[in-house]
Order: sequence, then structure tokens, then C-alpha cells
Amino acid sequence: MIVLEDRKSLNDWVEQSRLRGGKVGFIPTMGALHEGHLSLVREARKSCSQTIVSIFVNPTQFGPGEDFDQYPRTFVEDKALLEDISCDAIFLPSPEVIYPPGGQTFITVEPLASQLCGASRPGHFQGVATVVTILLNLVRPHAAYFGVKDYQQLTLIKQMVRDLALAVEVVGVPIVREKDGLALSSRNRYLTTEERKQAAALYKALCTAKSLYKDGELRAKELEQAARGVLLESGIEQIDYVEVRDKEKLTSELTADDPVMLIAARVGKTRLIDNMVLST
Ligand code: AMP
Repeated sequence: MIVLEDRKSLNDWVEQSRLRGGKVGFIPTMGALHEGHLSLVREARKSCSQTIVSIFVNPTQFGPGEDFDQYPRTFVEDKALLEDISCDAIFLPSPEVIYPPGGQTFITVEPLASQLCGASRPGHFQGVATVVTILLNLVRPHAAYFGVKDYQQLTLIKQMVRDLALAVEVVGVPIVREKDGLALSSRNRYLTTEERKQAAALYKALCTAKSLYKDGELRAKELEQAARGVLLESGIEQIDYVEVRDKEKLTSELTADDPVMLIAARVGKTRLIDNMVLST
């Protein structure tokens, strides 16, 4: 496995990989890798002859007062994990490699970017859309893999790829969870033992809504209230949102049969997100 740190060496690797034929699969991450990230790499390896993971804690997607400085940086462990699953390359750029001085261009995807997580994290999705576009242009993969865990992010990237006619296939990969249902996240390591127990309530809340939906409760407000009840019962009071949305467009008008429930809540100081598609 090769570690590429600048545009020139990345470009050489990309050219060689493309010359060899077969597909290049790309997995953008911020590092602090866990089984969720590794499942994206495994999925890529199924249909791509070369896989490349980027590790970049993107400063433009963090707001003032957010956890950019504390965000875990565990490159030695990340590299060993990727080596173990036969990933071919890591792209490990510095901020200057991604954002050379003098940049003036940003990608906005509205109104998708200003709702749900975007409402409490202004500018977050502009940072995400911009860095993903830059990374896609540098890596030029055939397919890029994103977790369903970040449902709004995945929806926004699909929209952006369509709107800008980017030549990449976007693949969504299912959420990997702990035994008690908590979705794996690099931020779970911020949780204290007590908070870790509480955090499982996000999954419980989603399951409660899903089972009500299955039993015929189709009213979004009722489902949201039931899920909120589960969070509150477990002591989670800082709830950013609990929303039932259209699974494709994330609008409040539900067009498809199966909507998605999305939750963002703070457990202690840690902001966690999760989601589940509700089906009858
Ligand atoms: P991050 O490093 O948090 O930016 O995540 C990098 C990619 O891994 C994103 O596409 C995430 O959606 C995905 N991811 C993170 N956690 C999980 C999980 N538990 N299951 C599946 N994918 C995940």
C-alpha cells in the first residue's frame, strides 16, 4: 500500500491505475477509521481493481467552536487497518494540497444544505460539497463510496454529482452498528461510559418509529413524537431534530412509499446522528 501526500504523486498513481484498466474506487474519510469505514473499502474492493482512501480532516466543514482541533488523528492505526484489508493507496494531503492559497470557489447545494444538520451547522455542507468535489477531481475515480450513516451528506453528494455532471458513480453503503445498535462513528470515542450507554437510545428511537410505521402509524408527527419520547426517557434532552423525510429528496412532503427518519442529538457534549428507512 502506498501513501500519497501531494498532487503529483497522486496523479502519477491515478494515471498508472487507469492505464492498467479496471475500476478505481475511492473512499473519502477523515480518518480515525473503524469498521464502518472499512465496510466502504470492502464494498469498493468487490467491483474495483484499485481502491484508494483519502484521510483528510477537512477544516472548512467545521464551524467555530466545533471539534476540529480535538478530532482524533490516528494515522498509524488507520494505515495498519487499511493494509490488513488490502487497500491499494492512501491519499493523505495537507490543507495546502487541498486548498492552495487564493482559492475563491465553493460549492453550495441549496436548499438541501441548509436544513437538518445544516440548520445547526451553518456552512458545514458547503465545506463537504467543496472538499468532495476537489477530491473527486484529483482522484478521478470511477466510483466513490459513502456511508448511509451520513444520510443527508449522501443525498447531497448524489444531487451535486447529478447537477454538475461529475463523471463518477456514487455508491451508498449500509450503516455498521455496535451490538446495541449504536452506529459506529469516530466521535463515539468522545463518550464517557455512562454516555455510551445512553447513546444506544438513538437506535432504539428509530426502531420504535419503524415498528409503529409497520403497524400502520403513517403520520410523521406521531412517529417523531414517539422517537423523541424514547430519547427523553433515556436522558437525552439536547435533541437537534427528529424528522421523517422523503427518502430520496429529504423534503417534508413524502412522495416515496418508505420515508426515512433522521435524528441528531447531543449526548453530553458529543453530537450524534443516525437514521433509518421506515417500511411497511
Ligand atoms: P468520516 O470519516 O466520518 O467523514 O466518514 C467517512 C465515510 O465513512 C462517510 O461516507 C461516512 O458516511 C462513512 N461512515 C462513517 N460511519 C459509518 C458507519 N457506521 N457505517 C457505514 N459508513 C460509515
